[in-house]
Amino acid sequence: MAELETLINRYDRQELIQGWDQSKLTGCKAAIVGSDLMANFVATTAASLGFGSIEIFGKGRITKEHLSQYRHKEEHDYSEGFLYFEATEGDTKTSSIASIAKKMNSLVDIDGYCIDTTTKKNLDVMASPDIIFECTNDMASKIAVLEYAYERDIPVISLSASENTGKIGVYDPRKEFDDDQRRLYENLMFQEFDGQKQGPIVSQSISALAVDEARKYVMPIGNDEMLSDIVIHNLESSERFDDNHDIELKRSSLKDKTIIQIGAGALGNQTALGFILAGVGKLCIVDDDDIEETNLNRQLWFYDDVGKLKAEALCVKLARINPDVQLKPVLKRIGPDDEQAFAESDVDLIVETVDNNKTRALLNHFATKYKIPLMSGGTSPSSGQAMIYVPGKSACLDCQVNMDKMALDSYQPHSCIHAAEPSVITSNQVIGAFMLGETRTILDPASYGEPIHKVAKYVAGEDLRVKLLATEYTCSCHEDKEKVEGWMEKMGHLYKNEGGDKRWHRVNLVEGLRISSGV
Ligand SMILES: [Zn+2]
Repeated sequence: MAELETLINRYDRQELIQGWDQSKLTGCKAAIVGSDLMANFVATTAASLGFGSIEIFGKGRITKEHLSQYRHKEEHDYSEGFLYFEATEGDTKTSSIASIAKKMNSLVDIDGYCIDTTTKKNLDVMASPDIIFECTNDMASKIAVLEYAYERDIPVISLSASENTGKIGVYDPRKEFDDDQRRLYENLMFQEFDGQKQGPIVSQSISALAVDEARKYVMPIGNDEMLSDIVIHNLESSERFDDNHDIELKRSSLKDKTIIQIGAGALGNQTALGFILAGVGKLCIVDDDDIEETNLNRQLWFYDDVGKLKAEALCVKLARINPDVQLKPVLKRIGPDDEQAFAESDVDLIVETVDNNKTRALLNHFATKYKIPLMSGGTSPSSGQAMIYVPGKSACLDCQVNMDKMALDSYQPHSCIHAAEPSVITSNQVIGAFMLGETRTILDPASYGEPIHKVAKYVAGEDLRVKLLATEYTCSCHEDKEKVEGWMEKMGHLYKNEGGDKRWHRVNLVEGLRISSGV
């Protein structure tokens, strides 16, 4: 009975999605080929979604370089993965990945096998899975896996990544193997990535797309169709999702940068992980919520933290992955009394991953008034979008989407019952990774190119999955004294009586930053 209860609670939020049939995922046996960064991401995402059985096949053992206490302080090289914080030297990489993914969802049977996947004979140990993720940058492995799958009519989701470019494509055995399919099948080898290191941001986004493709194969919803062409996430392109390489990226350190992130939910779990992998100097996470069982299907770092506070639990977990980042949880809901913190602090970027326009409008006001860049993200189960505001360079959220009006319209002073919203990990991971790519451009455009001036929109059912929508190019709200000074009078009533009876709701952010230094 206890087991059944866990099952019902854990998938509660994704089962609210119309047409969702968890039993189809639970009945699926998935194989992951690879033991580097993409395999890490695919394993955690597939486990969170609840594939019944996951087996990971790949080479390599844990060396000192994988363990956080020995990592080179400046390099932050996570190209081989980030799930090794409980491993010991000599363990296999695949079993270390499996061990953490198993903690993220104990209902999944998950195991790792240390094998060389570059010869087809070795692949017999896979024993005909229902679907295969090929996550290596190894041509020989891609060829062996695709041949193995072709002979057995098993679908393959092939993904590869370099430091700044990721690609994904699908072999679907249900389709007739005509010239188009043959060409696609051959393109899935991704020769250009052979032997390259897998970069964090594109690995995160492409892995999320990969797991959602598998979900569409196993459990299609509505008119879901799997990818019929290669999809790309490319930080070297000024359009991000095509194969142009018009930006010359230089690698630079973000260790002197401070980010304040508001929200530690599904999207916040993804962005915070990315900041840690990128090695930002200081990350302050603000959230007043505590962790519930129904969060676990998409808030991957809270697997053993039910009942604890999100901001605190997230900082504790992330510190294990990269102990060099200064992490500060602030346990409160942000409000007008936090203005001082933005006025005084040397925050380089505000990142909001909250689920309400009221908070977004307030943060947009602080960003405008104190000329601090702001990145905003929001998701639904099958879509999501991200917006970027750099004062003087792009338009603020109010000019992009009428944020103040949306906040006023959605304000319901007497409502206290909130219906549970459907939510799932994949859309949060795609939008989170997109935001991470733009973070570098905001913090260091000389090295990473200019941030985009468009709204990034992800729609799971559209051909190219992610697209950029034109928006107001720029605005001068940061110089508009009248708007900035009159804002609180117009909007302030939205934030009255905020806070309930939790003690930390009244903590000022400046104070919060001080009292919670360190984890
Ligand atoms: Zn504006």
